[in-house]
Amino acid sequence: MWWWGSQRHDPEFDEFLNHPWERMIRESGSLRSVVTPHVRCGVFSMQFLEYLMSARSWLTASAFTVAAVTLAGCAQLAPEPTDAAVAESAHWSYDGENGPASWGAVDSSFAACAAGTKQSPIDLPLTVPVTSTSIDLAVQDVDGDVFDTGHAVEVETDGEGETLTFAGDEYSLQQMHAHVPSEHTVAGRPAAAELHLVHTDVAGNLLVLGILVSEGEASEALVPFIEAATHVADKDQVALDVAAVLPASLENYEYSGSLTTPPCTEGVQWVVMSTTITMSAEQIRTLEDVHSDNARPTQPLGGRTVVGGTGEVFQIAG
Ligand SMILES: [Zn+2]
Repeated sequence: MWWWGSQRHDPEFDEFLNHPWERMIRESGSLRSVVTPHVRCGVFSMQFLEYLMSARSWLTASAFTVAAVTLAGCAQLAPEPTDAAVAESAHWSYDGENGPASWGAVDSSFAACAAGTKQSPIDLPLTVPVTSTSIDLAVQDVDGDVFDTGHAVEVETDGEGETLTFAGDEYSLQQMHAHVPSEHTVAGRPAAAELHLVHTDVAGNLLVLGILVSEGEASEALVPFIEAATHVADKDQVALDVAAVLPASLENYEYSGSLTTPPCTEGVQWVVMSTTITMSAEQIRTLEDVHSDNARPTQPLGGRTVVGGTGEVFQIAG
C-alpha cells in the first residue's frame, strides 16, 4: 500500500497504509461509480451502432428503438454521484458514523477491523512480563519527508536510516507518525501521545515500534518533526535522530496485533516501549492541533499473550 517501490509491497500498515489505502479506495470508488457507467454506455452504444450498420431493413426500426432506449438510459445516469458522496462511501474517521466501531462496515476491504481477533491497540499490563526476547536497533540519522496522511502527521524515510532486528529477522524503518492521545494504554490509562515507527522486513512483514509519550520536558529530537507538522502542506524534508527519540530504557511489551487503522490488517508485530519519552505541553498541543483524538480504542486481547523484551541501540555512522 505503500507506494514505495517494488520491495515495499503492502501488507498495510497503520498509517502507512492509511492514506494510500484511503486514496486508492476513494479513487477506485470513483472509477466504479463514475467512469464505469460511461464506459458501459459507450460500449453498448457502439454495439448498437454496429448492429444498425449490419441490420436488415426490416430490423432497422426496432434497432433504432433499442439504441434510443439505451442512449436514454445512459443519459439518465447523469448527474453522477458527487465526489463528496463517493469519498464518503469509503471514508473512515475517528468519530461519527464512520468512526472506529463502524470501520468494518465502511468498506469490504476493512472487514478485519470488525471480524479480526488479533487487533491493535490493546491495553497493556502495568508490569512488563518477564523478558523473553531482545531487539537490536542499528540507527543513524534518518532523512524523510513530512506530510499529512489525513489522519496523522507522518515522516516517510528512505528506508535506510534504521534497522531493527527482532527474532532474527531484520526490519527497516519506513515511516513514523503520531497519535494524540496514545492508542495503547497501560492499566487502562492512555498516555498523552504515541509515536509509531513502522518497519518492514524484506518479505513485507510489518513491525511497529510504539513509543508512549508523557507530558514533561520538550523533546529536542522531535523538534524538526513537530515544526514540520505545523506546515505539512509544504512536504518538508527533515532529519530525524532516531536514537535520540528512543526512551532511556528499551524494555518493552511485545505482542502480535494489527494495523490500528483500516484495513486493520493482522500479522503486525508490535514492540511497545514500557518507558515513556516526554514532550512539552506545547509540542503535544502542536501535534494535537493538526490531528486530535486520532486514536483507535483498545481491542480485546483474546487468546494472545503479551511478552516482555529488552533492547540495545547501536549508533552507526551515516
Ligand atoms: Zn499508528
